[in-house]
Amino acid sequence: MKEVPFSLEKIQKLTKEYPTPFHIYDEKGIVENAGRMKEAFSWIPGFKNYYAVKACPNPSILEILKGEGFGADCSSLPELVLADRAGIRGEDIMFTSNDTPEEEFIKAKELGAVINLDDMTHIEKLERSAGIPELICFRYNPGSARQGNVIIGKPEEAKYGLTYEQIMEAYPLAKEKGVKRFGLHTMVASNELDPAYFIETARMLFEIAVQLKEKFDISLEFVNMGGGVGIPYKPEEKAVDLDSVSKGMKEEYEKLIIPAGLDPLRVVFECGRVITGPYGYLVTRVRQIAKKYKDYVGVDACMTNLMRPALYGAYHHITVLGKEEAAKTAVYDVTGSLCENNDKFAIDRRLPEIDDGDFLVIHDTGAHGYAMGFNYNGKLRSAELLLKKDGSVQLIRRAETMDDYFATLNF
Ligand SMILES: *Cc1c(COP(=O)(O)O)cnc(C)c1O
Repeated sequence: MKEVPFSLEKIQKLTKEYPTPFHIYDEKGIVENAGRMKEAFSWIPGFKNYYAVKACPNPSILEILKGEGFGADCSSLPELVLADRAGIRGEDIMFTSNDTPEEEFIKAKELGAVINLDDMTHIEKLERSAGIPELICFRYNPGSARQGNVIIGKPEEAKYGLTYEQIMEAYPLAKEKGVKRFGLHTMVASNELDPAYFIETARMLFEIAVQLKEKFDISLEFVNMGGGVGIPYKPEEKAVDLDSVSKGMKEEYEKLIIPAGLDPLRVVFECGRVITGPYGYLVTRVRQIAKKYKDYVGVDACMTNLMRPALYGAYHHITVLGKEEAAKTAVYDVTGSLCENNDKFAIDRRLPEIDDGDFLVIHDTGAHGYAMGFNYNGKLRSAELLLKKDGSVQLIRRAETMDDYFATLNF
């Protein structure tokens, strides 16, 4: 059963100050979860997760994660600035971008971030703009050697990364240009729940590390497993067992990295979803129950607050506050107010009987939730709240006003 870390009474009180809809994040859940990840990979020399800023680009969240020793994975200029403003500095920033403008390379180098190149042409582009740094990383796309999934697509059809042949060209070229320290990155899955997938990714990266050593006498300093660790959106799904991922990775490390003389090799991740996803909730209020050919629960949030169901047909669990124990005797589509018929948080969902004014909690919005929001149909972005460890609630981003929405127009 999926639970929420607050009661109906708490939300009723809270909404007097902060009207629905809003996203609320559970600090205790995030911190404990970050601790579990660190613990699971504690055998790895210099283990770090560079939290993917795009998953929840709020400095308060980044500061919490910085406190847990996490870095930041950025892919745009504003994300670099956000990481910097949250106090995440230097090589604690991973800059993994694609189709990159030169000014972002310049900013990344200025911040001392680890620069992860997505394309062969980036070597020259970087040299021309920011100059070649001492440390460089390349993103590897294994093509048909690996299968992707519905969110990220098949690797051979993905726009990201260098092919195997390009990888084997890029490293010696970078070495020739004066690069002294090297990393290797990949990201081939998104929201993947199978632990074996990540062990296979580690083996794939370790094998390339060994080849780079044998062919070019290049000793990688780190491999970056990317993000993509999934979360159990559905009640019947199981979280990825990071202990078993870690154990499998250790076996590969001992088989491949140690005999090649590459130990210590840092292994890092840039997970976003699995870090904050389960600890965010979109709280929304029922505005109307409309009985047509089907029964529709209309709420005050819409897909501009959470796009995943409309974009990927993603399942997000829904709790009706105060009716947690009630029998699920009704079937509803839960809809927002956009003039788009796919603006539905749930379709044919079994739920308790719902009344006007009920509070619905949409689960697992702590990553790729608020972050993917937009303003279509004149919808204003919601507030973000933080449920702190001591039970108090802090506003960490106010709701947009109409003035914000009009700020870029010539009125
Ligand atoms: C999106 C993304 C991540 C984070 O993915 P999650 O599914 O949130 O873990 C990490 N690295 C890169 C390059 C990404 O594009």
